[in-house]
Amino acid sequence: MGLAACLSSALQAALEQGKIAWTSHRVSITRKQQEHEITAMRAEMPEYAALHVHVLQEVVTRVDRTFQRFFQRVKQGEKAGYPRFKGVNRYHSFTFKEYHNGAYVDNGSLVLSRIGRVKVIWSRPLEGTPKTVTIRREADGWYVSFACANVPCVHLEKTGKEVGIDMGLKSFLTTSEGEHVENPRWFRASEKKLRWHNKRVSRRKPGSKRRKKAVQDLAKVHQTVARQRLDYQHKEANKLIAKNDVIYHEDLEVRNMVRNRHLSKSISDAGWGQFLTILHHKAARAGREVVAVPAQYTSQDCSRCGARVPKSLSVRTHVCPACGLVMDRDENSARRIKWVGQTLRGVPGMPGTQPPFGERNRASAVP
Ligand SMILES: [Zn+2]
Repeated sequence: MGLAACLSSALQAALEQGKIAWTSHRVSITRKQQEHEITAMRAEMPEYAALHVHVLQEVVTRVDRTFQRFFQRVKQGEKAGYPRFKGVNRYHSFTFKEYHNGAYVDNGSLVLSRIGRVKVIWSRPLEGTPKTVTIRREADGWYVSFACANVPCVHLEKTGKEVGIDMGLKSFLTTSEGEHVENPRWFRASEKKLRWHNKRVSRRKPGSKRRKKAVQDLAKVHQTVARQRLDYQHKEANKLIAKNDVIYHEDLEVRNMVRNRHLSKSISDAGWGQFLTILHHKAARAGREVVAVPAQYTSQDCSRCGARVPKSLSVRTHVCPACGLVMDRDENSARRIKWVGQTLRGVPGMPGTQPPFGERNRASAVP
């Protein structure tokens, strides 16, 4: 498809403009300005004119977003990688930002402006009102996804139960009920396979047909791993939502944790951020509540008496010198997370749990 190449050059043009504006004037050009540029470009260059204007605009929007984030990082004094140009092989999707304008479904087929009628194998029926249409290229073909508004909610019946979850390294997650959900290690298991495919790519001559084939195979392995992970996360999120009205989780600052080299692999393995996103979305549709709880000390404080029991990551059991509680480290955290969450929401605490030592002492000191 020459389309990807064309989009890629449109993106490069937009990126170049951003770059020139930044390096020579230290200002960012606005999206509106760039959209005007697109109109001018289309008039001059026939390959851009062959694309729907919304598709081009969306490219500009992406570049704009990338630059906004870049400037934000610069402002915060963080190490800011300059946005880089993505070549044809890295440009995987394009978006029609208005359903019916450039893309729509007709009689089971997808009709795309300037491309024509495309046969689609539907994974599930469209629900709600389609707003945008994104076409994406994956290792094994092209995919279309619709962002829809007014998707009907399917509210589940109340169960009267609330749960805390601790997302860990040993188990993917542990609930305040003491249930352990094992960590998916596909990425690790597939790592050997990935490494083998990686080597095969580098062994082959750049630009050769055989190398291209090896790159495709590698992409397929990556895709399989990503799909397995997603599938697993959807299932686990469904289980939690089916059983509980409210789910409390640690407000993970995954970004900070990933910087710690020892943990990074397991963290990306488990894809906690992605899991939490799925959990929040599913909960919203099911009429359930998901509450992020400040993670400070939840792994240390005792879930029964509130005493602070410092322990390193390698200590797997919580042993409280104050009240004698002996419990799996992660289960103690999950209970503590639930308690903190319920306190924040103003729900009376679980039976048998108490505030942290400091707070309790303060409370009892008040006459
Ligand atoms: Zn205790």
